[in-house]
Amino acid sequence: MSCFLNSKFSRLVPYTPGEQPKDMKYIKLNTNESPFAPSPKAQMMAAKAAQSLQLYSDPECRDLVFAAAKYFGIQTDEIIFTNGSDEVLNFAFMAFCENGAVFPDVTYGFYSVFAELNGVNYKEIPLKEDFSVDINDYIGVNKTVFLANPNAPTGIALSVEDIEKIVKSNPNNVVVIDEAYVDFGAKSVIPLIKKYDNLLVTQTFSKSRSLAGGRLGFGIGSKKLICDLNTIKYSTNPYNVNSMTAAAGIGSLEDDEYIKNNCEKIKENREYLEKELEKFGFSMTASSANFIFAKHCSIGGKDIYLKLKEKGVLVRHFDKERLKDYTRITIGSKEQLDVLIEKLKEILEELL
Ligand SMILES: *Cc1c(COP(=O)(O)O)cnc(C)c1O
Repeated sequence: MSCFLNSKFSRLVPYTPGEQPKDMKYIKLNTNESPFAPSPKAQMMAAKAAQSLQLYSDPECRDLVFAAAKYFGIQTDEIIFTNGSDEVLNFAFMAFCENGAVFPDVTYGFYSVFAELNGVNYKEIPLKEDFSVDINDYIGVNKTVFLANPNAPTGIALSVEDIEKIVKSNPNNVVVIDEAYVDFGAKSVIPLIKKYDNLLVTQTFSKSRSLAGGRLGFGIGSKKLICDLNTIKYSTNPYNVNSMTAAAGIGSLEDDEYIKNNCEKIKENREYLEKELEKFGFSMTASSANFIFAKHCSIGGKDIYLKLKEKGVLVRHFDKERLKDYTRITIGSKEQLDVLIEKLKEILEELL
């Protein structure tokens, strides 16, 4: 740390992204990326946009906004595009949390970092013993609510009805529903934005749409919420979405069959992996996401993570006390999962 850093940041502990080591070729099942390439249409449109990179990108992302409004059945002033959904989440912490924020103790690690960064008071509400959200904890809580649905790293989803109860009971606060993994088996609450002006739904092109490296996310909410988020965007970086990524986004939305087909494959592979892991003595939460959260009956999460890494397979382990017995495994291709299963078999034979 230099002596020049603002004191308010001196204790900031940044988010730790999943490791991307380059020392050998790993099977990467640690950051919930898609095993599939982006839609060919998205790739083509990005390449075409590259020919005009001498120009600034469109700060309003008009073509993309138009395509997305049609796709999601909303108005063009009910959506904002950002540099990954992390950016819109940060904007929401900046914009809407004057009276504090609440989110689960086990959820996306970036929420507490954004809260710290923006000087937001926050409270982490413990999940139930089985890692599910007790919605009563959020009814009339009178703070800005952040909930990932499905939650990470548990994969457990809430119903639309339960989310509606939370939104309805907090009319004086924004409720942010982070739908990063919604395409893998949960139901989106986007239609509820017509009914509630305090609901902000965020999604990303990083997971189901195979565009993690493109950095594209968005928020959908009432016109006034989106206007506030645009105030923040235009006060930080109006060109937050580059032209290649915006074009890729349109291509992805226009290639729905490709995306839906990939999501189906992930769901099939998830079921396959769950069955195989159960045979080895793993138990897991009911995942509606592109990862599973699994615990072995006798070997700790850290050992599994380290042994798998030695054998060239990366998974995610969290040191947090409540999570240390668990391993989060991204659902890859069938071929990747077969290597994982094989390596796990070896590890169990070595250790038991
Ligand atoms: C991956 C993820 C995001 C954001 O990803 P971006 O790549 O920034 O769009 C947001 N929330 C959760 C829960 C995630 O897992």
